[in-house]
Amino acid sequence: MVFKCQEDSFLKKFSSTVIKCEPTTEPVVEYGKTTPFQGYQVTLENTILFPAGGGQPHDIGRLNETEVVQVLRKGNEAVHFTKEPLEVGAVVVQELDWERRFDHMQQHSGQHLLSAILEKEFQTATTSWWLGCDESYVELDKPTITNDVINCVEKRCNDLIKEAVPVTVKICKVSDSDVNEAHTRGLPKDCMDTIRIICIGDFDENMCCGTHVTNLSQLQMIKLLGTEPGKKGKTILKFLVGNRVIKVFQKMLDREKVLTGLLKNEPSRHDELIQKLQKNLKVANKNLQNVLLELAQYEVEKIKKADPKPKYVIMFKKEATPEFNRAIIKGLECENLFIFLASEDPDKPREGQIIIQGPVEHCNALGDKITELLKGKGKFNNGKFQGKAGDLCAMDKCKKLIEEYFECLDKKPVQNTP
Ligand SMILES: [Zn+2]
Repeated sequence: MVFKCQEDSFLKKFSSTVIKCEPTTEPVVEYGKTTPFQGYQVTLENTILFPAGGGQPHDIGRLNETEVVQVLRKGNEAVHFTKEPLEVGAVVVQELDWERRFDHMQQHSGQHLLSAILEKEFQTATTSWWLGCDESYVELDKPTITNDVINCVEKRCNDLIKEAVPVTVKICKVSDSDVNEAHTRGLPKDCMDTIRIICIGDFDENMCCGTHVTNLSQLQMIKLLGTEPGKKGKTILKFLVGNRVIKVFQKMLDREKVLTGLLKNEPSRHDELIQKLQKNLKVANKNLQNVLLELAQYEVEKIKKADPKPKYVIMFKKEATPEFNRAIIKGLECENLFIFLASEDPDKPREGQIIIQGPVEHCNALGDKITELLKGKGKFNNGKFQGKAGDLCAMDKCKKLIEEYFECLDKKPVQNTP
């Protein structure tokens, strides 16, 4: 069956009679994402809402006031997914989400043009294509495509758009001689009773069940976004058509304005300024490392020279690096001290690294309590704990715990043997 949406792809409103309405739990699939659904499948005598097919996603819209969230082709019928049931025999007004449909028509017709140019002028066949929510791509039967070819293909497509080449539809039967001459890419099996051939001027013919523009000028322009390696030696070529080019350009412009504000200089100097910042950051980090190592040596000396000699060391430096902590541990390893070091992860505040080390009896008494308070991940190994802290908010509690433990030890009366 040829639906009304295929006869006239620009029809935005249409009336038709409900011929079937059945409950369903079939999920809604949109741009490859599946969402559970519970509602009704409504069949009408005819429809302007396009059922997904030929790589083009389904339309959405309304039947009177009832929202249509998905339309699927089932054999010769288009099934409309609604949350509310509709009365069989009732005449309903169909309304189409035109912005979404026209976007699909631009991307879909743009793909016809792009694949035709690639095949006829650059001997590169399209093996499949994808229309996504933000980006679309064609999968090409070649391991690489050069930038020169991409630029030439883009220019050829846009020249033909400028020439406003008409796009027409020929309706044929399977037995017609025309059918053999047309390509079959993108044609679903259940579209075989009536064959629609989409013609771009007189240079491309393709069987397709989708909705298309009637003139290439309606595509406005094509922008090719570059290639990525595909599966099995194929190449993915991403593209945008029409309004999507404007939308993406606006987003890029907004991001550029933010960068210009942050970098306080014109866009043509952004890369130079970022490279400079990265270089400066590298130097600053190196200097910080050196200062931290000097500080570690200073801290070690201070503890070693302290009088009276401390029984424990607690050190929580947010900016401490693993090198700093290692220098402290190494410097104090012969001092028979209970050492507890903590540092913060610069990318995840509240999380960080902890090291617990010292005489076994103290580690046994305090280790598990500290790691529990800090949601530590790791194990004691040879009297030493080195691992991640999931929540450094409890650092004060840990300090208090350690202080009280050693205070208690000091107060413990010396046991006299009778
Ligand atoms: Zn098509």
